[in-house]
Amino acid sequence: MRRLRRTKIVATLGPASSSREMIAKLFEAGADVFRINMSHTPHDKMRELVTAIRAVEKDYNRPIGILVDLQGPKLRVGAFTGGSAMLEQGASFTLDLDSAIGDANRAHLPHPEIFAGMEPGHSLLLDDGKIRLVATETDRQKIVTRVEVGGKLSDRKGVSLPDTVIPFSALTPKDHSDLEAALDTGIDWIGLSFIQRPDDIAEAKKITRGRASVMAKIEKPQAVYRLDEIMEVTDSIMVARGDLGVEMPLEKVPGIQKQLTRASRRAGKPVVVATQMLESMINSPVPTRAEVSDVATAIFDGADAIMLSAESAAGKYPVEAVMTMNRIAEEVESEDGYRAIMQAQHAEPEATGADAIAAAARQIADTLDLSAIICWTSSGSTGLRVARERPQVPIVAISPNLATGRKLSVAWGIHCVVAEDAHDQDDMVERACRIAFKDGIAKAGRRVIIVAGLPLGTPGATNMIRIAFVGGEEMD
Ligand code: PEP
Repeated sequence: MRRLRRTKIVATLGPASSSREMIAKLFEAGADVFRINMSHTPHDKMRELVTAIRAVEKDYNRPIGILVDLQGPKLRVGAFTGGSAMLEQGASFTLDLDSAIGDANRAHLPHPEIFAGMEPGHSLLLDDGKIRLVATETDRQKIVTRVEVGGKLSDRKGVSLPDTVIPFSALTPKDHSDLEAALDTGIDWIGLSFIQRPDDIAEAKKITRGRASVMAKIEKPQAVYRLDEIMEVTDSIMVARGDLGVEMPLEKVPGIQKQLTRASRRAGKPVVVATQMLESMINSPVPTRAEVSDVATAIFDGADAIMLSAESAAGKYPVEAVMTMNRIAEEVESEDGYRAIMQAQHAEPEATGADAIAAAARQIADTLDLSAIICWTSSGSTGLRVARERPQVPIVAISPNLATGRKLSVAWGIHCVVAEDAHDQDDMVERACRIAFKDGIAKAGRRVIIVAGLPLGTPGATNMIRIAFVGGEEMD
């Protein structure tokens, strides 16, 4: 199964999409990576979802990425009787340390560390800022508030405190336990929430020890200010527009999205644009024009992936939401303007053999009108450097490591194939051509360019380019 677009799709799983059948439907509709949000998923459910995704991966014989998103030091309210409570404007509403189930008068706020720093007059923004409370009375056990902007508050919605200083550590005890459980199941990407500094990523990497790649979710102003240092240490980033738009003025988010996308493309590290991309599709089978335009903007910016959250996790139309993203990406990428924009934003190669070869491969593929750039890549780094070039032709990444194929499923333009390592250069060329033919990427008689590092399996040693003709049926 081959996608006809370069931009990848990340679909969050949840109550609307947790069965193996639904995961298969989402994959067929276009989902390349599945996201499990640990804010809403217990360990046994996470393991169940990973098993279901791996079964679908086996059925389709295509590597599928799994992103486990840690909650991070995100503050959330507890649960409510019946799943939600209506907060009326002007009413009093109390947040406290009592773990009893909440109602329209009070709720559990299970974060003792914030009670000391909270003062009367401080704002509390709930559910991505949709509900606004102002503290009127505070002590170490409770915060009494007045509802300034009311609305329906559901179980475990987020709380932001723009006026209160809270001593955050990068990974909470829950994150540590979720991270260990996720690594034990062999997932591919770990999403780190509310990071503020490069050390937060270093702390997570000390635990992952290469067992999963790290995606830094950029959702706090502190992380935006230290973006360059964060880009140095992370494996990828997510433009987490939900919390970014609560922590910073909403009108700043589009500019920050462009800044983050450019920075990660320059670094050659995947960037995922997330949250409210097709929000209305939670309840409607068709998106708004503005949502289509928003998805198109992320694609025109050259984002590696676009993400669905509640649309696929809890909406009424998860499959339609993925299909909609798929259609938008196919259409946008076929526009003349798309290619021109990719070229205009092209990042200059860094002074490394891998970048020089990736840039040369793109240029040769254009000059000779080749059908694909095929790279043999063991860790995935050659694949990512070729993707950084945003070439016009498809990129095929062949790796002997299934983990590499899964990891690269989030990266722009890469069609991943897991195959045994080649024995020698001739085998490498012959098998690359055969895979390109079989997967419908190059027709018989067309030429492709093959990129590899010799000796094979030496990460970062990209040093070979070959142009080869693709044979026909006789390759079978
Ligand atoms: C976001 O804030 O945009 C985001 C993706 O994070 P979460 O869904 O975990 O709140």
